[in-house]
Amino acid sequence: MMGPMPYPMEAPASQRLLDRARAVIPGGVNSPVRAFRAVTGTPRFMASARGPWLFDADGRRYADLVGSWGPMILGHAHPEVVAAVENAARAGFSFGTPSENEVALAEEIVSRVGPVEQVRLVSSGTEATMSAVRLARGITGRPALVKFAGCYHGHVDALLAHAGSGVATFALPDSAGVPASAAGETLVLPYNDVPALEAAFAEHGERIAAVITEACPGNMGVVPPAPGFTAALRAITAAHGALLISDEVMTGFRCGPAGWYGLEGPYPPGAPDLFTFGKVMGGGFPAAAFGGKAEHMAMLAPDGPVYQAGTLSGNPVASAAGLATLRGCTPEVYERLAVVAGQISAAAGEALTAAGVPHRIQRAGSMFSIFFRDGAVTCYDEARDQDTGAFRAFFHSLLADGVHLPPSAFETWFVSAAHDDEAVGHVVAAMPAAARAAAAAAGA
Ligand SMILES: *Cc1c(COP(=O)(O)O)cnc(C)c1O
Repeated sequence: MMGPMPYPMEAPASQRLLDRARAVIPGGVNSPVRAFRAVTGTPRFMASARGPWLFDADGRRYADLVGSWGPMILGHAHPEVVAAVENAARAGFSFGTPSENEVALAEEIVSRVGPVEQVRLVSSGTEATMSAVRLARGITGRPALVKFAGCYHGHVDALLAHAGSGVATFALPDSAGVPASAAGETLVLPYNDVPALEAAFAEHGERIAAVITEACPGNMGVVPPAPGFTAALRAITAAHGALLISDEVMTGFRCGPAGWYGLEGPYPPGAPDLFTFGKVMGGGFPAAAFGGKAEHMAMLAPDGPVYQAGTLSGNPVASAAGLATLRGCTPEVYERLAVVAGQISAAAGEALTAAGVPHRIQRAGSMFSIFFRDGAVTCYDEARDQDTGAFRAFFHSLLADGVHLPPSAFETWFVSAAHDDEAVGHVVAAMPAAARAAAAAAGA
């Protein structure tokens, strides 16, 4: 354990499950952030969830600000989504043939995001970005990629890379098990830095297949693109015959009915070439997608030469959950999300200000996060320059008071339309004590 623990809250049932899990699952978790390594302590094992609330194995209730990392935009176990899943499951779980639900889900996505004429359904955001990168390389016949530091696109080998020693040099692997050859065609640039992008294209433009970017980064905390940045990406890629891949796995259908693109696009001279989606469009089930213009998508097997496949792709139950979720994302839902995000971020800001804790709140639609530092955050280096010890104390005070934040200072806070006045009031009431805990831990 790091440092003193000012939060001696015990979770015996979760601890027992963690002990069991550790014996058979590495670290006891199936995705690393769930292990609470950044905040220390015992991750809570959830037993059920309803609306804005999570219920853990010890029978405690938490107002949920993780939302399964984005998908649960309507709240947990939404009755219409439950009904859609029950109906689909009764009709069979998976056919290994095409079926109507996947067509309806694809139609819903295409109808919402103008530049996306066709999508291919997959089972995770990682698969979506991996496939989009392969397609971009297939279309252009070029090997190299550009990504931005602090943007996360799933655990794709070529995208688990960090910057080499110079701005326009190829990257180094970010994980053991990724060979230099897999990361070595990736250039990692600072986000919101147009001159760095111009320099990379000046040097390597003829070899660059695509630039991949989070439509609005949310995986280093929320760091919106500076005005004109995405338009510059569009213009520079187009000028060099490279594609622009907009990763909307997090932002898609969350920032608004057409994702971040709907808020900020189009970007003259045009829209991004390829988009990736996940999270909300699966409604909590494994479903994701990548898409774009029909002429680009025609390069995929079976019509074209770029191979891509999946046993469970377009799964009828997952597609039904995603479709019911997207259909539930009405204008009223987006209005409610904005209200809830506004109330919770304002209460956190007021409490931190009153306690004298340096902080910076950044928002993108209903997505927001708080950096424990002063001043705007425009790139990953700035995001990293914050007081994670203060965050840790803040997190544990909230957890003890029944509010479950993402267990890292580098994550977006996710609200749902099911966050009613009771849930919001519960979160707001917990903020002053959390801010005082953060103040006590600041600089430690
Ligand atoms: C979550 C996320 C991914 C990865 O999706 P998985 O379903 O976890 O594989 C990719 N890109 C972005 C922007 C994400 O937020």
